[in-house]
Amino acid sequence: MSRIGDWMQESAHDVRVAAESDVVVVGGGPAGQAAAIAAARNGASVTLLERYNHLGGLASGGMVLVLDDMWDSHQREISVRGICLEMIDRMAALGLAEYPKQHEWGSMPDAVRRWKRWGTYDFHSKQKPHPICFAAAFDPDAWKRTSLEMVQQAGIELRLHSWFSRTLVEDGKVKGVVCETKGGREAILGKVVIDTTGDLDVAASAGAPHISGAYIVTTVFRLGGVDTDEAERFESEEPQAFQALDREVKHMLGGAWENWWLKTPLPGIVWCNCPHMPGLDGLKVADLTRAEVQGRSTIHKVIDFVRARMPGFKNCYLVDMAPQTGIRQTRLLEGEYVMTKEDLAQRTRFEDSVARGRDYYYPLRTLLPRSVENLLVAGRHYSATSAAQKISREIPPCMAMGEATGVAAALALDAGVPVRHVDVAKLQRTLRAQGADPGDQKGPNTDVPAIARSFAEAA
Ligand SMILES: Cc1cc2nc3c(=O)[nH]c(=O)nc-3n(C[C@H](O)[C@H](O)[C@H](O)COP(=O)(O)OP(=O)(O)OC[C@H]3O[C@@H](n4cnc5c(N)ncnc54)[C@H](O)[C@@H]3O)c2cc1C
Repeated sequence: MSRIGDWMQESAHDVRVAAESDVVVVGGGPAGQAAAIAAARNGASVTLLERYNHLGGLASGGMVLVLDDMWDSHQREISVRGICLEMIDRMAALGLAEYPKQHEWGSMPDAVRRWKRWGTYDFHSKQKPHPICFAAAFDPDAWKRTSLEMVQQAGIELRLHSWFSRTLVEDGKVKGVVCETKGGREAILGKVVIDTTGDLDVAASAGAPHISGAYIVTTVFRLGGVDTDEAERFESEEPQAFQALDREVKHMLGGAWENWWLKTPLPGIVWCNCPHMPGLDGLKVADLTRAEVQGRSTIHKVIDFVRARMPGFKNCYLVDMAPQTGIRQTRLLEGEYVMTKEDLAQRTRFEDSVARGRDYYYPLRTLLPRSVENLLVAGRHYSATSAAQKISREIPPCMAMGEATGVAAALALDAGVPVRHVDVAKLQRTLRAQGADPGDQKGPNTDVPAIARSFAEAA
């Protein structure tokens, strides 16, 4: 080993091959778990790598506890289905997911009152109060448990505590990845690799073209011991006093959305999607450290304030700060197609649409790197402009993208073709047959899978 200026030059060394499979999925967040499950259910052998000790990414470790952007306000239907709906169904069966039923969608005062503090409303609507829509609030541990069960049932080789560090590329083709582990470096080989790290770690290491995006960073936290009935009473019966105090809290937070606290399925425990911090880079150790230090200091000041002043919060305490830092955007793929804000606003339809978001569509080309073979990408680092990604990166669409890439990988391997030449019509048909909605049909999706029907009809 030798030093050259600010750089250390490492000597070449051998890396043990720890696993080998048809498909390697890197990153066990919402996109990654959907990709792995979909690939395995369609016949591929799959290895799923995750740096932390659980699955779920920002949904569980990041404690982002509302699944939204899965309801199309134009067609008044659930637009993200498949594995995402299956997750909600399984968590609801445990009593750990809550969602408004079809008869509550809209602006009926009772429904608005009931669901406002669950965050299950259409926050893109200009209407105030925001109309209630299909969205689900859930418990983070229920997510970890449910996703683990689904991964195990699909027969996936799960490797936690494996931190991806380098992509193995030969002649422009991805052959696998290298991970750092407590036991040393490990190579994981695969015929197709799916990058679901959220930060495009694998594709960037492989040399795929990408851009650097940025957005606010948030250290999400949960409070326990909250009397939510009293807090809601205060908000509705004493609106002026509430607004004055709420403004003060938001000022202390230095950045928060409209509702800085929302209910969770656990009584008395609320999640707080704040404080937001601008100007930090989610790839830099110094900025990530600053976010944690600054976030924690702000949170404790806010707790002292609300305990003393805010009705309902007298006995509150900090349950936890999210172990995964709230990074929304870093690297973004510059893939075969780059999604724009206009595409989203105009609800552009694509021939190769393979996933839906709220009321927009993702073409397969936004999940395909330009110059690297055997690699797919899904999740918040998909190919979009920074502005477009900010409004198309919620958990359900990331899962829909993941599911599409998992099926695409399995179909391409089956047909013996590179993933970029997968039969798109067959991919769309397969996704639809398996309960997902690839967004390839115009008008309302009347081909409603049983699980979505039960969501819509259950009273
Ligand atoms: C504060 C905040 C609030 C949000 N609010 C909402 C909301 O209310 N509703 C909503 O639907 N969405 C919300 N979002 C957006 C949503 O959470 C994310 O866009 C979504 O989780 C992205 O999913 P993903 O699978 O692409 O990435 P992630 O959830 O980030 O998952 C990536 C996974 O890859 C793993 N990983 C990363 N790098 C490596 C590596 N080098 N080696 C191994 N594993 C690695 C991570 O540990 C993680 O498990 C919010 C996001 C933030 C930050």
